[in-house]
Amino acid sequence: MSLLAVEQLDARHGLLQAVRGVTFTVAAGETLALLGANGAGKTTLLRTIAGAHRPFGGRILFDGVDVTAVPAYARLRIGIALVPEGRRLFTGMTVKENLLVAGAYGNSGPWTLDTVLDAFPLLRPRLNNRAGTLSGGEQQAAAIGRALMTNPKLLLLDEVSLGLAPIAVEAVYRSLEALIKAGATVLLVEQDIGRALGVATHVACMLEGRIILARSAKDVTREQVTEAYFGLQRARRATS
Ligand code: ATP
Repeated sequence: MSLLAVEQLDARHGLLQAVRGVTFTVAAGETLALLGANGAGKTTLLRTIAGAHRPFGGRILFDGVDVTAVPAYARLRIGIALVPEGRRLFTGMTVKENLLVAGAYGNSGPWTLDTVLDAFPLLRPRLNNRAGTLSGGEQQAAAIGRALMTNPKLLLLDEVSLGLAPIAVEAVYRSLEALIKAGATVLLVEQDIGRALGVATHVACMLEGRIILARSAKDVTREQVTEAYFGLQRARRATS
């Protein structure tokens, strides 16, 4: 059975339909990379799965249970954790406080302050600094660490490399790769196709709210993803 099953999901912002009839599954241990250009609907889809955005239609099943109407805080308790775009740390609190607060709201499990710091060693010297004073890469590591502190079964990551210096992206991805190798289940929104293909077991490309390409990562080429990303297949059909 899949850990996550999304069925015919529709999500809107007012009259604008951002997610259109999206269906896919993620099994335990898989990493699905969700790719697509700006405005394709990736963030809306992730937020809807996390319970931060109310769907207009369709269903979300988690561990076989219909969670479509379950509020965000309760989804966190059953194991769905979102690392939002822009990180959204409590900037006036220290890194340690950010991590411990999340730990208090989540479940017990392998992720504790110590194991999170082992996974993201760059946070160790910054533990007592206010989160708002950290560099972009350190803040991203803290945001992922905060989600891990809830001991999620499914980690939703929205554009973890956005706005980071290349060296910070390297550090964050090194830790992510280790997490994925250790068996984490991840749904990852990423603009960088190369990075995404480097860590994902599966790939889905969104265009204008729809999934237009879904494959196992080993069965897809970078060219196919790039074409889907920019909607070139459709443009080519329209002109032929
Ligand atoms: P990006 O990479 O730019 O974040 P995305 O693929 O994550 O893009 P979304 O942010 O989900 O896409 O946006 C999908 C569509 O919904 C876009 O047309 C966007 O303008 C619109 N949209 C997103 N958030 C809102 C909002 N709060 N109010 C109105 N429209 C929105």
